[in-house]
Amino acid sequence: MNDKSEYPDSYYLHSANTITSRGQLTETVDADVCVIGGGFTGLLTALNLAEKNYKVVLLEAHKIGWGASGRNGGQVGSGHNKKIQDLESDYGKDLARRLWSLAEDAKGIVRDRITQHAIDCDLSFGNMHVSDDIRDLKKHQEYVEKLNNDYNYDLISYLDEEEVYEMFHSPLFKGGGSLDMGGMHLHPLNYLLGIADAAERAGVLIYEESEVINYKGQDKKIVNTKKGRVNTSTIVLACNAYLEKLEKRIAGKIMPINNFILATEPLDDGEARYINRDNVCAHDNKFHVHYFRMSQDNRLLFGGGENYTTKFPSNLKSYVRKTMLDVFPKLENKKIDFAWGGTIAVTVNRMPHIGKLDSGIYFSHGFSGHGIAMASLAGTIMAEAIDGFSKRFDVFNEVKIHTYPGGTLLRWPGFYLGMLYYSLKDRL
Ligand SMILES: Cc1cc2nc3c(=O)[nH]c(=O)nc-3n(C[C@H](O)[C@H](O)[C@H](O)COP(=O)(O)OP(=O)(O)OC[C@H]3O[C@@H](n4cnc5c(N)ncnc54)[C@H](O)[C@@H]3O)c2cc1C
Repeated sequence: MNDKSEYPDSYYLHSANTITSRGQLTETVDADVCVIGGGFTGLLTALNLAEKNYKVVLLEAHKIGWGASGRNGGQVGSGHNKKIQDLESDYGKDLARRLWSLAEDAKGIVRDRITQHAIDCDLSFGNMHVSDDIRDLKKHQEYVEKLNNDYNYDLISYLDEEEVYEMFHSPLFKGGGSLDMGGMHLHPLNYLLGIADAAERAGVLIYEESEVINYKGQDKKIVNTKKGRVNTSTIVLACNAYLEKLEKRIAGKIMPINNFILATEPLDDGEARYINRDNVCAHDNKFHVHYFRMSQDNRLLFGGGENYTTKFPSNLKSYVRKTMLDVFPKLENKKIDFAWGGTIAVTVNRMPHIGKLDSGIYFSHGFSGHGIAMASLAGTIMAEAIDGFSKRFDVFNEVKIHTYPGGTLLRWPGFYLGMLYYSLKDRL
């Protein structure tokens, strides 16, 4: 059955594989584990647990993939949202190496799940980091050398200004870049729908339109929705940017930010290869990052622009198009077919917040724009930890995540001022 009623009108919805509609929870059910949230984090946790013979119930407030997982840029990069040099200076070489290795596992999980479940999601390889600042040429070189020499990672190579120009023909990128053939891009909603189907086949009970209002209890817990409840001993919080009041103890560790994407009309092959010769995905050096790639049918999918309110701008197409034309002025006459927004959760230090609260409540969120791979990893290692094997999960105990100053109530003013400062810096 195709039920597209609740999703944003995105290119992904337009090109989605079959979307299965799941019923609402209207009764009391028992489960070993109750997972709250039907994005990558929740579904990967549920799938992994079901494969280990746990009885799992997953509750999603809207539709599976309604959140960031079904709306994002589709770019799967290596490492974390911190350069390897910053990981080393912030956490020391030993922890940096273990974090790098977990990020490699994360990409492997995405690749392996797509193969294992034969998910049709346009998987392609090649992830570029480019820059508009000539002074960055050296930084790109040093980054590539560091990964090649110290981390034995030879899938990444340096490209100078001319090579980058030949790839994208953008007047903006004067600072060279790096090409990572271990990075990937994919259709995120189709990846997620494939994981949801696999989870259901493995025995997970998925309920949609079933927002969790609260949960209570210590050893035995009750998870309440408007019309039903789940009796369980273990809860997994996979709500990401939408967590807010459900668990106040950790909500102040993340900040919700809205980010926007457009899809042009399909370009012909020549036009598509002119602006993206090798069909890679790319992102730039801006604090408010520009990111882009081609869809399977040759549309430019371009992301850029953020806001920090509860609403998206009403004129999203023209809002994102303006930024797109800075990067690709040649697309002046192209029609914009779709534009949509989504909400990301970021942490103060841009590392994911993964852990366990005192009473059998696990959580992962704040992937800071790196969630396709990192949320897939988070789901996998939360399931391992619940099953008693917490070696990979425990690494994240060593990564301290600060609370936003002011917590959930007062974090906005300071954050907003900080963002204004960085917007100004980007423009200058
Ligand atoms: C515009 C945009 C572009 C992005 N680009 C990229 C990219 O190119 N590469 C990348 O790696 N990452 C990207 N990201 C980030 C990535 O999409 C996220 O990190 C990732 O999807 C997080 O997955 P999740 O499952 O934790 O959260 P989500 O996918 O947001 O899922 C959380 C789910 O929980 C549900 N929920 C919340 N509260 C409740 C409740 N009380 N009861 C029941 N259900 C609840 C929500 O309805 C939602 O469906 C982007 C994000 C956005 C918004």
